Amino acid sequence: MRRRGIALLAGCVVMLAAGCTAADSHPTPPPPLHPVPGAATAGDPYYPDDGNGGYDALDYHVDVGYDPANGKLDGDTTVTAKATQDLNRFSLDLRGLDVRGVDVEGKPATFTREKGVKLVVTPAEPLRSGSTFRVRVRYGGDPSATPHGGGSENGWQRSKDGGAYMVGEPHSAAFWYPVNETPRDKATFSVTAHVPDGWTVISNGREQGSSSAGGKTTTSWAEPNPIASYLTTIAIGKFTVDRMALPDGTPIVNAYAPESGGHGEPSIRLPEIIAFLAGKFGPYPQSAAGGIFLNEDIHFSLETQGRPTYAKWAELLTVVHETAHQWFGDSVSLNSWSDICLNECVASYAQWLWAEAKDNQNLDERYRTAVEIFGNSTDFWTSKLVDMGSGHEFQGVYGKGILAVHALRRKIGDDAFNRVLREWPDAHRHANASWAEFEALVGKASGQDLRAFFDDWFRGTKKPADENLYPGSLKG
Ligand SMILES: [Zn+2]
Repeated sequence: MRRRGIALLAGCVVMLAAGCTAADSHPTPPPPLHPVPGAATAGDPYYPDDGNGGYDALDYHVDVGYDPANGKLDGDTTVTAKATQDLNRFSLDLRGLDVRGVDVEGKPATFTREKGVKLVVTPAEPLRSGSTFRVRVRYGGDPSATPHGGGSENGWQRSKDGGAYMVGEPHSAAFWYPVNETPRDKATFSVTAHVPDGWTVISNGREQGSSSAGGKTTTSWAEPNPIASYLTTIAIGKFTVDRMALPDGTPIVNAYAPESGGHGEPSIRLPEIIAFLAGKFGPYPQSAAGGIFLNEDIHFSLETQGRPTYAKWAELLTVVHETAHQWFGDSVSLNSWSDICLNECVASYAQWLWAEAKDNQNLDERYRTAVEIFGNSTDFWTSKLVDMGSGHEFQGVYGKGILAVHALRRKIGDDAFNRVLREWPDAHRHANASWAEFEALVGKASGQDLRAFFDDWFRGTKKPADENLYPGSLKG
């Protein structure tokens, strides 16, 4: 539009000499549209059905009613997005659930369901590249009936107290609202939930208030920071809720399911954990803190943004780990699932940093012992830490990943290592970044050529060579 306007003005300047007047100017017609369908993938080869193209999601407002008595969810979600191409059709991810209607910019749109995960929307009129548009989807059903796929515990789960909770990585949001399910498209997020009186709803970000009328309690939460879809959550339960604040006023909300037990110390020490990690990684990046402490024996806890979701077995070091993710994984999100080590290797190493500082642990001794224990097990070394292949993301990052980060620290020295831990979250705050960028930052901070080290530890499938296995003080 700007270029066209300049060309018109130049034409008029020429005409002015020949008697051009203001009356000769006409409104500039918009350029013709060339609408095509948006891609039905975000392009990550590990999960090609996840995410979509042709637009950039800016905000989600999820309005849900949920009745624990029958497990039915009634949803009304508005997605605000910006078209990144002229669009005559685009898709959102939504698993299961029946769609009752879709509006785009207030006008009814047609829609189809494809591949069990795509909600394909054809707006009444094509969307122009660069325009912001709102999609409203009304839907409902029993979300716990949707086949989980890609992780038996991903998705909408009924809880022991009769309520429900929602966790899953690499995808989970599409089990309860229409979404561009990819960490590459982070957006702001808010939820308003209506549940029968006596139930409590916990989600991400800050509480926006709660009210009761006609036997229903309505509660709203808002996450003002961009959030990757798998880090959004909702939990409906008979929670006991504790509210505190960090010294800077950041609200802490801890919610405990009945009989979740044993979580007192971890959550009471949360301000200390955040202060400790802020000393390593820079200022706490999230709008709120706390935790959702479930009474469930699921096999993982998850760093749901600002308010991790904890399995029943979670203990203090689990809280350290999930809190470290608030910088590594949540604020700085990966671009590709092959780069999961950016999240997990560092969050796992945070547990060692905590043990070193709080329990006076000698990490070199711990490292050498671990290498002795695992040294002759080829299984331990075969897992790649980057580019490990779909379905293998979590095999090596918690064990070999910790050793790799400690070896890296000894290889480059504490000055460079500490600089990396601070500069990474600062450089990519609330954005996305890649493993290649991480290697580049480490190279810059250390002034060393670390290609062979990274090949050995992160891309290799064998025990690293001695110079990489025992760098620096690990030699002794
Ligand atoms: Zn983790």
